[in-house]
Amino acid sequence: MSFPVNAVRADFPVLLREVNGSPLAYLDSAASAQKPNQVIDAEAEFYRHGYAAVHRGIHTLSAEATQRMEQVREKAAAFLNARLPEELVFVRGTTEGINLVANSWGNSQVCAGDNIIISAMEHHANIVPWQMLCERVGAQLRVVPLNQDGTLQLEVLPTLLDKRTRLLAITQVSNVLGTENPVAQMIALAHQHGAKVLVDGAQAVMHHPIDVQALDCDFYVFSGHKLYGPTGIGVLYAKEEILQAMPPWEGGGSMIATVRLREGTTYAKAPWRFEAGTPNTGGIIGLGAAIDYVTALGLKAIGEYEQTLMRYALAALAEVPDLTLYGPSQRQGVIAFNLGKHHAYDVGSFLDNYGIAVRTGHHCAMPLMAFYNVPAMCRASLVMYNTQEEVDRLVAGLKRIHQLLG
Ligand code: PMP
Repeated sequence: MSFPVNAVRADFPVLLREVNGSPLAYLDSAASAQKPNQVIDAEAEFYRHGYAAVHRGIHTLSAEATQRMEQVREKAAAFLNARLPEELVFVRGTTEGINLVANSWGNSQVCAGDNIIISAMEHHANIVPWQMLCERVGAQLRVVPLNQDGTLQLEVLPTLLDKRTRLLAITQVSNVLGTENPVAQMIALAHQHGAKVLVDGAQAVMHHPIDVQALDCDFYVFSGHKLYGPTGIGVLYAKEEILQAMPPWEGGGSMIATVRLREGTTYAKAPWRFEAGTPNTGGIIGLGAAIDYVTALGLKAIGEYEQTLMRYALAALAEVPDLTLYGPSQRQGVIAFNLGKHHAYDVGSFLDNYGIAVRTGHHCAMPLMAFYNVPAMCRASLVMYNTQEEVDRLVAGLKRIHQLLG
């Protein structure tokens, strides 16, 4: 059965918009995806008819909201195939999830002389928290380098791992190159050396099913807004024994067992120990609706459709003169490029004039820009609601810009 792209598009009201006199071609979903009516309605319905603070009251609305929040935790656990819902912490997004691990687990487990391994294709969110941790405790940051085609120099990883390696923090899919890293293999290798592994799933969860138990990762993080859910909500998964042993990070309401002024405070069990303050319950409800949405379509079917579109796009873009593409031929979701020597901002502005929304800039991956020796790139994202016709418009737009600018 072919993928019902038109029915999917009909669920996303913003896709009906015109931009600068042309129909919107939204090719920026890797930065943030659009939201279907199902997500918008679920969140609005909660605010209209079900809203109350969670965890705090015995009144009906509060109890219902608490129950709905915990149901989404169960849903997200099933989505990642986690063993237990209690292995999931609600966070603001991938960035907060990684910072939580760096501060809570990192501060308590990483010492002077230890090392942490990342890769040269990481998003700043999976670089800077580890740099800050290393500075705090006197640990060393090691980096798996890249091949020119945008894959990792995997053969270097064994030479970086040693008995002082505490963590490998690696992206599953690069937000710039689309490279899908062989994370299962890397996790197994890191575990042989006694290191834990954090997988940044921000660019992976929307493209294919995720199974954290099969991967055997210790931590997995993703953001709701790239999975067609609301902004300000994400999920951190951590293996139960690791999460229960982690000290609290932010202090406040909801994360405590007892608070006494003189004798001090005792803390709630995980995951609630890591959810200080009033949570983003509306966002959590919306995330639940987003998970339902992609689950109903089937992530396998979504992935197959996206791969067909990706192959079509790579072949079509090969016809554009002077276009440099970055990244391997087998990839997920994104195509980064530059046109001749033109700055990505200029190319992106022209495309915007044609109603085509692409990302321009360093993509929060400055080390990757340095590797390719460019200040910036354009990036077109292809997801489940994009079409061959939009790809054709991108290709035609780039050819026109090439004619105009030379
Ligand atoms: N990691 C990767 C690979 C990403 O693409 C992003 C978002 N661009 C992040 C981390 C950070 O996600 P967020 O801004 O939602 O916290």
